[in-house]
Amino acid sequence: AKNNPNEPEFMQAVLEVAEAVIPFIENNKKYQNKMLLERMVEAERIVIFRVPWIDDNGRTQVNRGYRVQMNSAIGPYKGGIRFHPSVNLSILKFLAFEQTFKNSLTTLPMGGGKGGSNFDPKGKSDIEVMRFCQSFMNELCRHIGPDTDVPAGDIGVGAREIGYMFGQYKKMRNEFTGVLTGKGMSFGGSLIRPQATGYGTVYFAQSMLATKGDSFQDKLVVISGSGNVAQYAIEKVNELGGKVIALSDSLGYVYDEDGFDTEKLEYVMELKNELKGTIKDYVAKYPKAKYIIGARPWNVKCDIALPCATQNELDEEDARALVENGCICVAEGANMPSTPAAMAVFQKAKIFYAPGKASNAGGVTTSGLEMSQNSLRLKWSFEKVDERLKDIMADIHISCVKYGTDETGHVDYVKGANIAGFVKVADAMLAQGVV
Ligand code: NDP
Repeated sequence: AKNNPNEPEFMQAVLEVAEAVIPFIENNKKYQNKMLLERMVEAERIVIFRVPWIDDNGRTQVNRGYRVQMNSAIGPYKGGIRFHPSVNLSILKFLAFEQTFKNSLTTLPMGGGKGGSNFDPKGKSDIEVMRFCQSFMNELCRHIGPDTDVPAGDIGVGAREIGYMFGQYKKMRNEFTGVLTGKGMSFGGSLIRPQATGYGTVYFAQSMLATKGDSFQDKLVVISGSGNVAQYAIEKVNELGGKVIALSDSLGYVYDEDGFDTEKLEYVMELKNELKGTIKDYVAKYPKAKYIIGARPWNVKCDIALPCATQNELDEEDARALVENGCICVAEGANMPSTPAAMAVFQKAKIFYAPGKASNAGGVTTSGLEMSQNSLRLKWSFEKVDERLKDIMADIHISCVKYGTDETGHVDYVKGANIAGFVKVADAMLAQGVV
């Protein structure tokens, strides 16, 4: 804490890993030297830079840009870029640290990184977003590359922003390479990448339920957020026979007891992706639904909860409400959405609980598959990428079970994910010496 003052999110992420990994290290001599964990919590490199740009009124604006290159022991740094006013060093260090373990779990050769800016794309014109992305990339392009660091999207960074950043990288470096993932389909993007995190989260929940012979069929599901991850989680839940009855955004949530079927989901996508509206507007079109302003959806009675919005969006009280209302499964689509106290409630109740680093790894998995396709100069079919995604999510589930099962047969997915992620990175760091 003394070395990382004012970084509560980073400390929270490190503590969660340390609690699982330190007892494991104590029982495994090979990991007891060379300051492994101490080296892992120290980023290999962090760049912080000025991002000046001109708004539509001709005024100069300035934001702060970051790239945290956390760990490259098992592959090039890999992790998203977030544009949101809340972005700061603590949040990006927590995300880059989590990413290192998540990427290790995917079985693909990717190190951990994360970046972003406190720029808020909301309310900005398309041209302003383009100017910002170009200025951001003017500096970032010095630090990334297809074999060095391959960023992707995250909150506030979707296909549009990736397109603008890719265009600027190509211009600055005069090379067409897979330096970013989440690209458009006409210039190296992978099929399934937009769906991957939402689908993957549902696949992971499906694996957990299957251990007790259960499934999504006829289950009531509550999802937070209504962005990229939430939208495709809804699509997959519907496909598997479940019913999503609530979803949210940063201003409130909508409850629709009839469920967000395909037609309603299409409207949510139009509302959030094209009209850039709030979820409140949903009730204008579907008046039977209810909008609850300024609240989170966790009091809605459900069987399965999928937090897909942001960090620390589900606290102890929310967790208690979910458990008391009979929720049997929580799979995180977002990164670290549950506070430590909320996690403790789920773990004490012994319901299925998957931390984001395991359940939302589908996004980066498919990014890894996009990198492979770019290197091969090939494009794989929707079915092929979806099949690989399903297989890898199933493998991640197996790894969590391997390291997280206790003597009673109960699986602690937090412990399992952290230890499984740690082992591969630690082995690589030991083999590569103290560098
Ligand atoms: P989007 O920007 O597409 O959507 C984010 C959603 O969360 C929006 O509905 C937004 O509401 C809501 N939200 C954002 N901040 C807050 C807040 N402070 N309180 C309440 N709601 C909030 O992002 P993604 O769907 O891509 O990402 C969601 C989460 O999933 C993040 O934690 C991200 O790190 C994680 N993730 C994403 C991956 C991906 O492939 N996209 C991969 C792995 C993890 P509003 O519309 O009002 O802004």
